[in-house]
Amino acid sequence: MTAGTHTAEDVTLARLPSGVELTATVHTYEGSDDGPTLYVQAAQHGREINGTETLRRFHERLPLESLSGTVVAVPVANPLTFDLVSYITPEEFDSVNPNMNRIWPGDEGGSLHQRMADTLWEEIEAADAIVDLHTGSPDMLPHVVYREGDEAARNLAEAFGTDLLLSEEADDDASDEWHRRGFGGKLRVAAAQEGIPSITPELSHNKHILEDAVEIGVDGLLDVCRYLGMLPGEVPNREQTVARNHLGQVTADDGGLFHPEPSLDVGQSITAGTSIGTVYDPTTYEPLHEAAADRDGILYALTQEATVVGGDQLASVALIREE
Ligand SMILES: [Zn+2]
Repeated sequence: MTAGTHTAEDVTLARLPSGVELTATVHTYEGSDDGPTLYVQAAQHGREINGTETLRRFHERLPLESLSGTVVAVPVANPLTFDLVSYITPEEFDSVNPNMNRIWPGDEGGSLHQRMADTLWEEIEAADAIVDLHTGSPDMLPHVVYREGDEAARNLAEAFGTDLLLSEEADDDASDEWHRRGFGGKLRVAAAQEGIPSITPELSHNKHILEDAVEIGVDGLLDVCRYLGMLPGEVPNREQTVARNHLGQVTADDGGLFHPEPSLDVGQSITAGTSIGTVYDPTTYEPLHEAAADRDGILYALTQEATVVGGDQLASVALIREE
């Protein structure tokens, strides 16, 4: 048996006004036997660095000698937002599409993000499965999002192995909010339209390398490889909760400081009316909004960033579909 190979190549995503070329490093792991191609990327939202650290450890732990097929991995899909430790790109670079995860599959003649995505899409459209690593806020339960009704994507999500899976309706089945927020341009959604099963793990925690989140990511990728038959071994059977993505958000009625209810933990089941916390006026101490869950479900995000403006998201509660 041959050992399999690893190569790394820089591809040019775009050219900045100064002439500096924006490049992404693409790692390719070629197994000694034939098999599917898995595409994995991290940090299209540049502050979501736990996906990048996940790919570094995956690189160390992937047993290349046992690999069948090909893994293509891009640890920093959006170097602009990565350098700015940001979620979006400033308008100087892309005033039309500041969020890279709204414009897939990109456009070679479009705005900067569209051009960057178009270049990466060449790798993506050759894949048999896609994992787009993201990390939510600090106070979020790690979970995997997949398209409701897409069994192949659901199987990938189950293999990745987080306790919580969130299914998201798309296109005609989706809510007004889904369309208004441009969710049809997510990489996962665009890939699904090409018939490529695709998942979005949200590993939780921006900006800090969080040990638990990264280990969930590495184990998840290795289990996805096992599920696809690219690595030997079985994916363990797990107890997982399936809930519905989005639309269960509690938002602040008014600006102020938000004090989350100290007894709450992400991952717990709560009922409609459960107190989430209080937004108060920091100068007069007057309570402005006693925030409460508007539905029964699983609390999967609770903000810890206390300074809020009216309309900010305080908590996310997902409707449970299957336990
Ligand atoms: Zn993200």
